[in-house]
This record gives sequence, C-alpha cells and structure tokens, in this order.
Amino acid sequence: PMKISPMKIVVVGHVDHGKSTLIGRLLHDTGSLPDGKLEELTAMAERRGMPLEWSFVLDAFQAERDQAITIDTTQINFKSDKRPYVIIDAPGHREFLKNMVSGAASADAAVLVVDVAEGVREQSRRHAFLLHLLGLRQVVVVVNKLDLVGRDETRFRAVEAEVRAYLAEIGLEPSAIVPIAARDGENLAARATTMPWYDGPTLVEALDALVPLAPPLERPLRLPIQDVYKFDERRILVGRVEAGGFEVGDELVFSPSNRRARVKSIETWNAPAPKLAARAGEVVGFTLDEQIFAERGDVASHEASAPKLTNVFRATLFWLAERTLSPGDTLKLKVGPDEANVTLEAIENAIDTQTLARAPAVGVGHNEVAEVVLRTREMLSLDDHRTNPAGGRFVLVDGFDTVAGGVISTDGYPDQREA
Ligand code: GDP
Repeated sequence: PMKISPMKIVVVGHVDHGKSTLIGRLLHDTGSLPDGKLEELTAMAERRGMPLEWSFVLDAFQAERDQAITIDTTQINFKSDKRPYVIIDAPGHREFLKNMVSGAASADAAVLVVDVAEGVREQSRRHAFLLHLLGLRQVVVVVNKLDLVGRDETRFRAVEAEVRAYLAEIGLEPSAIVPIAARDGENLAARATTMPWYDGPTLVEALDALVPLAPPLERPLRLPIQDVYKFDERRILVGRVEAGGFEVGDELVFSPSNRRARVKSIETWNAPAPKLAARAGEVVGFTLDEQIFAERGDVASHEASAPKLTNVFRATLFWLAERTLSPGDTLKLKVGPDEANVTLEAIENAIDTQTLARAPAVGVGHNEVAEVVLRTREMLSLDDHRTNPAGGRFVLVDGFDTVAGGVISTDGYPDQREA
C-alpha cells in the first residue's frame, strides 16, 4: 500500500481551555492509543483516588519523553479513516512557543481550542496571531466544554462570532468552527447526538477536509545546494528544489556569491530519457556550463527573482525572553543555513496582539510582538516572507537560547547585488 505522509497539526489555545483533554480523547476515540494505556491510566487514577482525566494521556507521553534519550519525540500520532496525523509541539511542552516561532515545527494546519464559557482569551489571540505571522493559513477552531453551558446553541454562536471576528482581523478564515465537549468525546471523532442543532463537520471530518501543503511550484526558484560531487572534471550539484522550478539552459545565480552559470544537464538515475526540468519537491543533481565555485549552503535562483542581498531589513518579531529587547542589543540571527550577528537598530512599532493596535515603543517585553529594523555587518541574501514563507523566517539566538522568532520584510531596502 502507498504510504501517505502524515498531516502535521499544532493544537493551540488559552491555558485550561482543553487542549490536552482534546488530544487524549482524540487519541482514544480514533483507536490510536497503545494497547493497555487506558487501563493503565485508569488504574493509576484509582490508586490516587481521583477521576480519570484525558490529559493524563499527554502527561504519560510527556513522562516517557522525559526519560527518552532521543530529542525528537515531541510527536503524537493518530489516524482517521482517511489519513495519518501527527500532532507536533504538544501544549504544555516547555518549548511550545519556541518551537512554534522557530518554525522548526512547520505545520500544515492548526486546531485552536476556545472554552465556550470563557470565550476568546489572551493566549487564544496571541497564538492565532503567531500562526498567521508564521504563514499558517489552515485553522480549525473547536469551541470546547459545550457541556458546561447545557450544549446551548446561542452560547456557541456567540463564541463562534467572537472567534471569527478576531481571526478576520488578522486575516485568517477558519475552515470550520466545531462545537465540542472534549471530555465526553462529543463531535471529535463521533458525531454528538446531544447537539442536534449542529450540522457541520466533526473535528475529525474538518481535519480530513484540509489539504496537505502542496510544494510551492508557482513561487520563485529556491534551490539550496546540499552537496557538490566531483567526478573527473565534472561537478554535480545536488539539492532539493524548495520552491519554483528550473530547466536545462536556465541561467542560475548563486547566493551569496552572486556567481552565475547555465544549467547544462539535470542528472538522472536509471531514467529512460534525459531530464529537462525540475520542480519544487524534487531532489536533483545538475551540472553547469561553467565551473563556477559553488558550495554547500549556496542557494540557486533566477536572476529576476533572486533573494535580496542586504545588511538591513525590517522584521516582525516575537520576543520570547523574560528581559526586554532594546535598540542596540546584539544577538545571533539564524536564517536558513546562515548565521550572522545582528543588531536591533530600531523599534518601529509594538503590536498589541489583543487589540492589534500598533504604537511606538522603546523596548519589546516578554511575549510581545514588534516591527523592528535589524542590521547585520555582512551582507546576507534574504527573502521576504511573502515571497518565500519558509526562507523569510528567522530566529534570534542568545548563547544557546532561542529568544525570538519572526519574519523578514525586505521591502524598501535596496538590493546590494552588483549586476
Ligand atoms: P489545556 O491547558 O488547554 O491543555 O487544558 P486541559 O485539557 O488540561 O483542561 C483543563 C480543564 O478543563 C481540565 O480540568 C479538564 O478536565 C477540563 N475540560 C476539558 N475539556 C472539557 C469539557 O469538554 N468539558 C468540561 N466540563 N471540562 C473540560
């Protein structure tokens, strides 16, 4: 059978609105819990004289994680009849926001959980804002704990309108807004009979209706070089086409060296006919008509749509550290494979993620968002996040600590490349 790659989702929302409960119950209701896990947790709850909480499922995974040696275990899998899913960056995980902004965990879609009794709260807004900032466009909203309001349609509609209004302001249109009672498994995998007024999809149906992210064929070519192999006199450059495409005969420009050469051939292995073009999603080897010096880490593109070479750019950043970020502070910028020392030149505006108001600011506090100007000493080839969402994302690092994440706007700054 063909292996379908799992759809990656993140679950976000205000503390205590039911994210962990939702995940635990969803794993159970889709038959994705390991054998014996539920019995084990029930017995544990009994021993402690407390009722079973579905969030114990996540706690149990977390405990297993803490003992694990491997780092990459922040993933929780479940399956619908249609396809596999992986939940990345589970809530409550210490590095949750860091992972979210670092973009290391780039998801296909998000589930935003809102408690019907509390409505949209501070973290509901902040998380939704960050999702949008980082380029995520597919969001399913669940309005949780409908049991607390007698599964009342009017209460649901009011919260639905509130969520929709905030999301519209930041430019997100939810794919669905589903009334659920996570604790009781209502409208997660199974349709609730207790809310006859609701005829929309269950959470799982809403997730199944989402489309996995397609490789960005229509965007400008971005081909980071992973390796250069030498065979006799020939050099074969190898990399994965991340966006766009190219053909034999195209002139490519390599950043940051700004050297140019034409594609002479695209290498094929055991293919019946020569390959004349490559596109996003493919891993390719290719040769050039001239032996220019290109190395691992270079990015190939077309001249007319190449990344901009600049040492100053505007950014919208999310500040994670406890201390305040101030003009003149120097940090390490990581963007794609590049690293550079970067100085905060100016704060143009702080953005209040609650009201979306912009206002001048002298510093950026913990968990605040700001529009800033950053300057590096050396020139970098940078992408605007609107042209290339993946390449236009960065993180700021202080020592080993990720202290900010954000997106780049190159508008208004001249390209310093020489023709
Ligand atoms: P998180 O902080 O978003 O992960 O929230 P939790 O999943 O830990 O849930 C917070 C509290 O809300 C817990 O006491 C849950 O039992 C409770 N809760 C979660 N879902 C429901 C629900 O559908 N109905 C009710 N009444 N309580 C719920």
